[in-house]
Amino acid sequence: MKEKITPYLRSIAGSASVANQYNAGGSEPFSDDTYNDPLHEDDHEVVKGLVHKYSNRALIKVSYQCAAHCRFCTRIRQIGNAEGTLTDDNINNIVTYLHQHPEIDDVILSGGDPFYTAKLTYQLLQQLKVIHSIKVFRIGTRLPLQLPEAFQSDAIQLLLSLIDEIAKQRPFYILLHINHPDELTEQALEAIAMLRIHRVTLLSQTVFLKGINDSFETLHQLYTQLHHKGVIPYYLYHCDAVKGIQHFTVDIEKEKEIATQLTATLSGIAYPTYIIDIEDGHGKIPVPLNFINEASGKLTDFRNKEHEIK
Ligand code: SF4
Repeated sequence: MKEKITPYLRSIAGSASVANQYNAGGSEPFSDDTYNDPLHEDDHEVVKGLVHKYSNRALIKVSYQCAAHCRFCTRIRQIGNAEGTLTDDNINNIVTYLHQHPEIDDVILSGGDPFYTAKLTYQLLQQLKVIHSIKVFRIGTRLPLQLPEAFQSDAIQLLLSLIDEIAKQRPFYILLHINHPDELTEQALEAIAMLRIHRVTLLSQTVFLKGINDSFETLHQLYTQLHHKGVIPYYLYHCDAVKGIQHFTVDIEKEKEIATQLTATLSGIAYPTYIIDIEDGHGKIPVPLNFINEASGKLTDFRNKEHEIK
């Protein structure tokens, strides 16, 4: 992966919690030869760009391009590689596969960042919207936090009007990958507010990152702000086991303790599900939190008092 960062991110890189997610100048470049695919996505890429791992869902990688390259990325092995960009033939093959597999009712556009390649995503969505077996659309993005000014562009405005049109008929979710409250600048919040004008549901995804957001206070602040801005916290991930990025991995017991405190203190719609995406492609597992005393079998409430299960 080539290191890449936007001028906007450089302008807020005074925050170490932002800078350390990227190469903001001080870090050694990563070496490309260690990265692997612990989620086994490549094994399930049934046609170029479409990963069919779970029966009713398909992941479509629109490209491997992003505005900036995150150093902890699960797909760090691919990010920045021009070969990932879907061609007209690739899109036709994806559409054919989806017609042949009407059990796929939920498609997730990712990559790379589908909003960064807005024209290509528009072209793909034009073809997907006429497949009636698709009942739910999702797009994962980090662009509001990496290049918020892009949301003023004609290409993104056109894409948003198409999303709005689809969302009149079918649920459309935008999954914002946000790791730290310092990413929620005024400009980023303006871009997020622009998404809210459309008929989409905004969800957030966060990865636990050592030295960046592995504290209760940081994540409590992040989720409180997201809650206030109409973004529903969805998943809080343990960092995937990609070789070469393990220094970002937080101890699981520490994560469980933080996730337990978040669940005990935030409103029910303001805390995410803490998840581990099991290595070797076995899927996402919600991690049991510390609300049960395993020795006594009693439940612990948010004031730390124990109760019998009756
Ligand atoms: S924006 Fe997303 S896909 Fe792109 S490098 Fe960052 S985490 Fe990976």
